[in-house]
Amino acid sequence: MTTTMGRLAADPASATWTIGAARVLAGLDRNAVLDARTHLDTHGPLPAADLGRLLGLLDASGLTGRGGAGFPLAAKLRALRGQRPTVVVNGSESEPASVKDRVLLRRTPHLVLDGALAVAVALRGRRVTVAVHDAAAAAAVRTAAAQRPDGNRVRVELVSGGFVAGEARALVRALDGGPALPPGRREHATDHGVLLANAETFAQLAVLIRLGRHRFADTGTRTEPGTTLLTVGGAVGRPGVVELPLGTPLGIVLAAAQAGQPRLVVAGGYHGSWHPAVPAIELSRSGLAAAGGTLGAGVLLVLDDSTCALGELARVTAWLAAESAGQCGPCRFGLPALARDVQALCQGHPGAAEIALRHARAVDGRGACRHPDGTARFVTSALHLLQDETYLHLHHGGCGRPVLGLLPIGGRP
Ligand code: SF4
Repeated sequence: MTTTMGRLAADPASATWTIGAARVLAGLDRNAVLDARTHLDTHGPLPAADLGRLLGLLDASGLTGRGGAGFPLAAKLRALRGQRPTVVVNGSESEPASVKDRVLLRRTPHLVLDGALAVAVALRGRRVTVAVHDAAAAAAVRTAAAQRPDGNRVRVELVSGGFVAGEARALVRALDGGPALPPGRREHATDHGVLLANAETFAQLAVLIRLGRHRFADTGTRTEPGTTLLTVGGAVGRPGVVELPLGTPLGIVLAAAQAGQPRLVVAGGYHGSWHPAVPAIELSRSGLAAAGGTLGAGVLLVLDDSTCALGELARVTAWLAAESAGQCGPCRFGLPALARDVQALCQGHPGAAEIALRHARAVDGRGACRHPDGTARFVTSALHLLQDETYLHLHHGGCGRPVLGLLPIGGRP
């Protein structure tokens, strides 16, 4: 079996593949990039949609944000009705294991722009700002905007920053000329007159407008119609960005990704959770919630017996602790302590697991953004699952496996 060590972190030009019919990824099997003509040939013209029609489609489909929080897009539109907001495409994708949004922006940028411009027109918004960390994505969107009659409403901003810089409010601050850090209090982008969603959300909206509510619901589940994108990596022979119907069983994705002997999966990214590789787990928001997890940032990382899972956990926890903005107590003190606990656990220190769980509980819900909560969920779900490894590290000095780095950290282009 082939394993892929952190390859996705540096490879946004990853392969794309689908389970079922392609929607968002349509045309990418034949074209490296969909320019204006191939985009129209593939998807057809975008029907006009006023605010009432958009809200009707969104209410019927229940389309939620595909960047992590899963907030309903219709609620954001309603919150900003009458305010002429700026529409922001969050293409920063700060999650190091995810490349799906960069793949969309680099390879099918018109689909993303269709959705964002439709929202801007419906809300009488002033412009669409596409914010990215990736110079190649910025160039692709600029090229696409130049090919469209409505492209003069599109502005592309190359913003820098780490993991928390992709958080919605951090991005809004950066676009306002401030630091790319979450503000020290809980507030929403809509409070600033900004409608912000990630690239996949706008691409899914463009598909929804074209298909209408009934055809959109031809696939997926009754409560979560449509498809979703996952960035699949780790111990698989076929890493890449996959489009699949919501509700697809995990076993089907693992087989299609050529995972040889999957044992564990990390779902949702590094604010997501660890699960045993149970084939029946449904890949949808409700399916993963029933398994105690989240679809989060649309990431699925597979671990097999080739690597030390506790070592993988320790690497990512240390990275998450270092990526905080360091402005709230849980991040300044709690996350470094948690990272030290997990490292101590790897080294077989008695009681380290209990201390780590206590520190995870102590940071949960205490920061001004969700970074401590997400990190606590990631660590807690792993510790509950890795009890055999914990025993081996405690009583035998380790599990005997190397740490391969199957969970990518950093390395963003
Ligand atoms: S919780 Fe952490 S990442 Fe979030 S704002 Fe506070 S210091 Fe920054």
